[in-house]
Amino acid sequence: MINAIYPGSFDPVTNGHLDVIKRSAGLVDRLIVGVLNNNAKSPLFSVDERVKILQEVTKDLKNVEVKSFSGLLVDFAKENDVHVIIRGLRAVTDFEYELAMAQTNRVINPEVETFFMATSLKYAYLSSSTVKEVAKFGGKLDDLVPPYVIPLIREKYKK
Ligand code: ADP
Repeated sequence: MINAIYPGSFDPVTNGHLDVIKRSAGLVDRLIVGVLNNNAKSPLFSVDERVKILQEVTKDLKNVEVKSFSGLLVDFAKENDVHVIIRGLRAVTDFEYELAMAQTNRVINPEVETFFMATSLKYAYLSSSTVKEVAKFGGKLDDLVPPYVIPLIREKYKK
């Protein structure tokens, strides 16, 4: 049995995230999408909203579960009996940060390994902050996020 966690902020979930979720769910027995409850950032969506959105967009993937966590990722992994962390890599700009984090996590808990999934080329440019920037100015979101998320983002920027 391979249990894995795909952690992130998912504020909001993008088609790039969903692509990593679908591809990794096909490789492992159980995939937990871990939504980080990060007090330091002021998110567009609350952690509960992000969990609900992810549950909706992954509802057809039977081995995917969505949970929020705060604190250390390796502790969340331990609590869920998970030894595999999955992170997505878009470009070299992601690499330095991701490598340092993976190495730190291994120092803290050597039983947890990080695997990197290369982004699909068509999503290599895509990030949650790009989506927010486009949404702020009323740009088209159709190719960036799942259809379910579009009206929810629009609602946030109406206020
Ligand atoms: P964090 O705030 O932890 O970086 P994100 O929600 O931005 O969380 O991203 C979660 C993970 O998904 C990270 O590993 C990130 O590199 C990866 N990711 C983000 N966008 C894409 C994309 N377009 N393609 C592949 N991986 C991505």
